[in-house]
This record gives sequence, structure tokens and C-alpha cells, in this order.
Amino acid sequence: MSDHHRGLRPESRIVHPPIEEVTGSRPLGVPLHQGHVFAFPDSDALAEAFGGPDGAFHYSRFGNPTVRSLERAVADLEGGSGALAASSGMGAITTVLHALLRSGDHVIAQQSLYGGTFATLADLAARWGVEVTQVRGDDPGEVRAALRPTTRLLYLETVSNPVARVTDLPALIGAARAAGVLSVVDNTFATPLLCRPIEHGADLVIHSATKYLGGHSDVLAGLAVFADERLHHRVWEHAVEHGAALDPFAAWLTLRGMQTLGLRMRRHCEAALDLAGRLAAHPAVAAVHHPGLPGHPDHERALRLLPDGQGGTFAFDLAGGREAARAFVGAVRLASLAPSLGGVHTLVLHPASTTHRQLSDAELTAAGIGPATVRIAVGIEHPEDLWADLEQALTGF
Ligand SMILES: *Cc1c(COP(=O)(O)O)cnc(C)c1O
Repeated sequence: MSDHHRGLRPESRIVHPPIEEVTGSRPLGVPLHQGHVFAFPDSDALAEAFGGPDGAFHYSRFGNPTVRSLERAVADLEGGSGALAASSGMGAITTVLHALLRSGDHVIAQQSLYGGTFATLADLAARWGVEVTQVRGDDPGEVRAALRPTTRLLYLETVSNPVARVTDLPALIGAARAAGVLSVVDNTFATPLLCRPIEHGADLVIHSATKYLGGHSDVLAGLAVFADERLHHRVWEHAVEHGAALDPFAAWLTLRGMQTLGLRMRRHCEAALDLAGRLAAHPAVAAVHHPGLPGHPDHERALRLLPDGQGGTFAFDLAGGREAARAFVGAVRLASLAPSLGGVHTLVLHPASTTHRQLSDAELTAAGIGPATVRIAVGIEHPEDLWADLEQALTGF
């Protein structure tokens, strides 16, 4: 306790307990700075702290040491110059879109985007006059044809949900870049261990760290990673206004989960490919949509862009149609019927009646989703136990 606290009454002293500084050793894990406010020696020092994302910590909506550790860790993995953490993947996405777009701007967006991203773009279109053109994700000619003088952004996902189409990132980003259009890539499904979109020319990478980065289904978090420091600064100013800041404890949980990302991704990828192969050979299964299998339309691109593994989430169609798919997702025992993905638990769901229920039949077909399609996000359980569960659910109705 500092000297000027001596002689104070107990009520005052307890508000100012000693804060232990670590000297002579160092913490092995990232310290949790849950407090949201930082004190300064004088007004000039505080004034200077307001200047930008690299100013001294003063108020956690502007920046926090634990959150900064997460931002730097993910920026490093993605090969970016900096990153911005948000309270969820959607927090990162809306912050980026609102920071970079204004009325009258045009966006070229991949057809099969995450539902929340699609809803935000639709809202920007309906209420703010942002225009959106959809493209498939495998043809740079489509991007070139969609370009207008007002085009501001190309928005892509590395791997699509749920049928795991692999986007031709270098070709599409190249087409945007040649026209001076910024590229944003949601890399949630691939993680920076399988693909680093900045290496393919992306300006901005998005993560729902709620999924593989956090990895344990116990935290919501999002990140935007920037190739360029100026873009980071611009979006950071809006992030402070939007207030989508990540809570320090959520950042701490995400960092703790991320330490095993390498082990988990290897297991997710190996088990998913193994199960995909076994499903493809099962008489109750009509088709398997896993880019690591030779029959997938993006198999060659997947081997080129995702050589270390094609991820842990894929889909398959049951031969028995819609009712068989709905019965299957209710019959699993080790796996669980739940939304989300990227955690240690294996999850299944029926996209046509849940995550993609707002889509028309034509939109479902365009997204490659049939009435009998099941999505599986493979966890880290033993693959033999998982196969036994899938097999009993395939034959048990
Ligand atoms: C889950 C998800 C999001 C949204 O992330 P939240 O953390 O739930 O807000 C965005 N993009 C993709 C690809 C996702 O899977």
C-alpha cells in the first residue's frame, strides 16, 4: 500500500488494496486484466492515450491488455499487421461493414455467406441503400462482371457452410484488387492454421472465435485482422463508437482455448475426413460433401488452398430423404443436435429446417443444400466411438 493511503479509514483502504506487481519472475499464462479503467499520473498522459489503438490503456472499450494479447496472437497467426477483437463474430462483422460502407456503396458478396452476415448486408441494403451483388465464389469473371464505380468491398468465406465449397480466394481477391476494391474473408471454418487469406491478397480477415479458435463452446468472441495498419486504425475508431468490445475474461478464455488449436485442428481434420469416407460407403447415405474426397467439386482447389487439412465441418445427404435426415439428427447419442461448430463436442443439425430455414427452395438448391442434407461438426472424441454412434443413428430408424 502506498504511503499516502496510511492513516485512511478502513472503508477507504479496502477500495485501494495493494496491487501486486510481478518482479523477478514472469507469468507463464496471459494475465487477466478484468478492470476496465486505468489511472494516469497527469492529464497530458491521459490525453495522449486517446490517440489510437496503440495508445496507453485507459478504458477497456478502447483497448485492454488481455484483449490486446488475443488481438496480437491472432494477427500473428494470420500474418496481419494488427487485429481488433469484438464481443462476437457478428460484432466484428457489423463493425467492419459499418466502418467501411456508406449509402450508395456497392458490395460483391458470396452467395453462401453465414446467415447473420447475409442478414446484416440485407439490412444495410434495405435501410442504408448499400447495393449487394451475389457471386458463386469459383469464378473471378463473375466478380469482374459485377464491378461498378461504386464497388467498395468483396466479401467471401474460405469454406462455405454447410456443403464445404472452397472459394477460389487468390482468383477472386485478385479480380477485386485489380479494381482497387477491398477484400474481406471470413476464415472461421479454416482457421489460420489451414489457410491465411492475407497471403492470397485479402485486406481483412474475420473470425468467429466462438468456433475453432475458442474451441470449447464456452465463449463468444470475434476478430477482424487487418493487412494494413491504416485500415486497422479506421475500423478501430468505429469499433470504439459501436461498443462491440470483447470482455477481457472472454479474451482470456479464447487465448486459453487457442493454445491447443494445433492439436485440435489436426484431430478435427483427420476424424472428419475418416468419417466422410466411411459415410460415403454406407448404403443409407446418398452423397457426402467433404472437399477432401475426390468426388467433391472443389477437391483439387481444396488440396491447393487447404493442403494441411480441409476442416472439421462437412455435410452429407441421406438416401431416405427429409424425414430420414430429421430422424438421424434426433437419433445420435454421443454427438448432439445443436447449432454452432468448432468445439470439442461433435454436433449435428438439419440445415433445411434450422440454420437455413429462411431460404427459398431455389436458394437452398443454389447453396447446395437438399431436404436430406445433414451438417456435422466433428469434435475431438475418438473417431471409432463417433463412427459407432453415426452408424447406429443411420440404421436405428
Ligand atoms: C458463427 C459464425 C459467425 C458469427 O459468429 P458469432 O460469434 O456467433 O457472432 C460468422 N461467420 C461464420 C462463418 C460463423 O460460423
